[in-house]
Amino acid sequence: MRLFDSHAHYEDAMFDSDRHERLEALRGTDVTHVLNCCSDVSVFDTVIELCERHDFVYGSIGIHPHWVLETPDNYLELIRKYAMHEKIAAIGEMGLDYFWKEPKDLQERIFREQLELAKELDKPVIIHDREAHEDCLKILAEYQPAGVLHRYGGPVDLMKQALSWGMYISFNNDLTYPEWNQPHIDCLMECPWENLLIETDCPFAPPHEHRDERCESSDVRNVVRVIAELRSVSEDFVAETSYRNAMKLYRISG
Ligand SMILES: [Zn+2]
Repeated sequence: MRLFDSHAHYEDAMFDSDRHERLEALRGTDVTHVLNCCSDVSVFDTVIELCERHDFVYGSIGIHPHWVLETPDNYLELIRKYAMHEKIAAIGEMGLDYFWKEPKDLQERIFREQLELAKELDKPVIIHDREAHEDCLKILAEYQPAGVLHRYGGPVDLMKQALSWGMYISFNNDLTYPEWNQPHIDCLMECPWENLLIETDCPFAPPHEHRDERCESSDVRNVVRVIAELRSVSEDFVAETSYRNAMKLYRISG
């Protein structure tokens, strides 16, 4: 079995003491690829370092909506520069987040500017949408980018719009939380296999039974198990299908 964790955050401070050790511990396991996603300019260098120190780690560069107020005026130039690196496979994560209270107009401007830059650079985008489904999909429909809706748990009909122009949907251990997993399960059941990715969003999204712990890319195995169970297919099928999809989206050969 080979597993591609399509969205992880080893740049996060929760991994300050051991990020390289934890990544190296994946060697020889089923987790053969990790896409380390980026959240703000303060970690651009760390993302590059992760890509350079670990051959199986790829990265994205971009601004998460939670960090728009800390974003410098020249951020687009910085993204453009860092995105030249051969292992930067995507722009993001970007999008809208109405759970936190950053100004919506600023979130929208930075979201749109990154969508335009990704088009110009011909890179896929990683989309963060939290409690902003209608607005987020309305903007995405204007640009119709290549990319992935990450941890999406909104209405199925909006997900289908994104599928109509070929976006991918990534699922994680949100599927295991009985209190609020139903929207994620509804999307999972309607997501075509050729558009499905798996991820951990580690360290932030542990499986329900480890809800208070830091999670890691190895927890992607549990995502595979849950998807296989819910859709009545083998774990090997889920692993291999999502692996190939991630390789295709992030344009990684081999
Ligand atoms: Zn993320």
